[in-house]
Amino acid sequence: MRLILLGPPGAGKGTQAQILVERHGIPQLSTGDMLRAAVKAETEVGMRAKAVMDAGELVSDAIVNAIVAERIDQPDCANGFILDGYPRTLAQADAVEDMLAERGLKLDAVIELLVDDKALVGRIVKRAQEAQSAGQPVRKDDNPEVFEERLREYYKKTAPLTGYYYAKGRLHTVDGMASISDVTGRIEEVLRSI
Ligand code: AMP
Repeated sequence: MRLILLGPPGAGKGTQAQILVERHGIPQLSTGDMLRAAVKAETEVGMRAKAVMDAGELVSDAIVNAIVAERIDQPDCANGFILDGYPRTLAQADAVEDMLAERGLKLDAVIELLVDDKALVGRIVKRAQEAQSAGQPVRKDDNPEVFEERLREYYKKTAPLTGYYYAKGRLHTVDGMASISDVTGRIEEVLRSI
C-alpha cells in the first residue's frame, strides 16, 4: 500500500502515520524527519536545508525529491510506504508520479486531514511543551512565529495538491479534528474502501 498523508503542519500526519506503521507494517517516510536527521549529521544536504527549515520555508524540490527517490528503493519499502509531509508542492507531486511510474508502482490513496487553523498553532505549542518536559529536543520551528510562516507556505504551495489529487480521483478527506482513534478509524475505512 502506498499512501500520502496530506495536511497542514500540526494536522496529525505524523501521529497517524506512526499508528499506520504499527498496523500495516509499512514504513513512514517523513521528509521532515529525514531532513532533521541530515541537519543533525551535518551532511551537505543538512547544511543547505537548515536555515530554510528554521525559517519555516520549504526546502528545494530537487533536494527532497532526491531524498525520497533514494529512500523508496530501500528494501523496507518493498510492500509500500506512507509519505508524511511529502509531496508539498505541485512539482513534488509530479515527481512522485514519475518515481512510481518508473518503478511500475502505483499510489493507492491520498488522505487529507482537515483541521481548523486555530487548532493548529495550539497543537504545535503543545508538541513543543511535551518535548521539553520529556527532556527531548524542541524543534526550532515549533513556535508561533515560525509556525505562521509554515502555515503560509502550506496554503501557498501545498494546499493546491488537494485539487491535483481530487482531479485524479485519489483524494479522501478525513476530519482531523476528531480524536486520534476516531481519525485512525476513518483512515482505516478509507483504506478498506480502496
Ligand atoms: P515537517 O516535519 O514535515 O513539519 O517538516 C519540517 C520542515 O522541513 C518544513 O517546514 C520544511 O522546511 C522542511 N520540509 C519537510 N518536508 C518537505 C518537503 N516535502 N518539501 C520541502 N520542504 C520540506
